[in-house]
Amino acid sequence: MSIFEQVESEVRSYCRSFPVVFNQARGAELTTEEGRTYIDFLAGAGTLNYGHNHPELREALIEYISSEGITHGLDMMSSAKARFLESFQQYILKPRDMDDFRVMFTGPTGTNAVEAAMKLARKVKGRPTIAAFTNGFHGCSAGALAATGNQHHRGGMGTSLNDVFRLPFDGYLGEGVDTTEYFEKLLEDPSSGLDHPAAVIVETVQGEGGLNAANAQWLRNLEAVCRRHDMLLIVDDIQAGCGRTGHFFSFEEAGIKPDIVTLSKSLSAYGLPFAAVTYRGELDIWTPGEHNGTFRGNNLAFVTAAKAFELFWSDNEFAEEVQQKARHMRAGLEKLIRNHGPSTLKLKGRGLMSGIECPDGDLASDVIREAFDNGLVIETSGAHDQVVKCLVPLTITQAQIDFGLNVLDQAFAKAVAAREKKAS
Ligand SMILES: *Cc1c(COP(=O)(O)O)cnc(C)c1O
Repeated sequence: MSIFEQVESEVRSYCRSFPVVFNQARGAELTTEEGRTYIDFLAGAGTLNYGHNHPELREALIEYISSEGITHGLDMMSSAKARFLESFQQYILKPRDMDDFRVMFTGPTGTNAVEAAMKLARKVKGRPTIAAFTNGFHGCSAGALAATGNQHHRGGMGTSLNDVFRLPFDGYLGEGVDTTEYFEKLLEDPSSGLDHPAAVIVETVQGEGGLNAANAQWLRNLEAVCRRHDMLLIVDDIQAGCGRTGHFFSFEEAGIKPDIVTLSKSLSAYGLPFAAVTYRGELDIWTPGEHNGTFRGNNLAFVTAAKAFELFWSDNEFAEEVQQKARHMRAGLEKLIRNHGPSTLKLKGRGLMSGIECPDGDLASDVIREAFDNGLVIETSGAHDQVVKCLVPLTITQAQIDFGLNVLDQAFAKAVAAREKKAS
């Protein structure tokens, strides 16, 4: 029995899909203790948009540590934090016409950023209800979990999860149904039974929920409903942000401007725990320490994040590269669908947050198991774990994408054949 089975809690999760011990990693490659190398189509669940151990980020980090830079995470002023804020303002906020946005550092996990965003919205509007969507995932601490749809996670709470109103996401009721119209109807009807929400929290592409991508027009409609009915728009960009869909923020393509944005996962650019909330300055009504925490600012993450803004976001080159790779990836996935189930398999997602929906979770799970045996680290998502999800580092090479697509092609062939044999 391994040390993990002996000592680590049953709550361990991702490791169960990949029963090997990883030891080293570089770019889009992971290497085990035995020296076997895998291509990484999971990227630390989207925390490694710039790949493992990016040489220039690593260099900046080593230099910072060697020069005895501040490493604790208490929210004191440090030069690393100053550089992060300057860099975020210069490369991210200003070019996107978000000059007036403030940055709030929360505890270092995504769920804590969501807690802070929801607290702030409630405080600003003086109303408890937040509207969230079917299949949304916003984290596993109580406040954020109330907004999360997943029953498996919700069930872990053991108490009631309150003050969230659930709405159907884009496409939930089928094509051609604009679910924002339903929302607006409820808001306009004084007898609908809906308590006026303080805010709406939404992912533009639902990562854990199965790569459901909201249509740009639907997002604009949602923004308009928020404006007409005095509700704040929170975009949870923890997974879809930091370049994943081809722009720094996932909502840029739709041309909307949320009031509050949560960021985490790839924000540190190096897989380090780090989260932040950014919002319109006039919403900044917190009193000092009102949302507090001991680790509100990981200095090591400040260093790598600031460096990444400078390296990847000082012009459009990287974004265009991501868009080009995404087209290549999605064309490859489409071909795979034509080969193995044009009527049963479905392309999902947007940008480098794309994948294939299978008719059920069993097929998807057979595919990822077979893919892992052939050198590919990849996971599923969705209500039934039915979506094979390609969450590659954005810095992945085309050859590595092709390797992964090829492994998936063979994995689908084998899994579909096994299923047909069983059925006959
Ligand atoms: C992962 C995720 C979270 C939660 O982040 P944690 O760091 O796991 O707490 C919240 N929202 C979205 C959209 C996520 O993908």
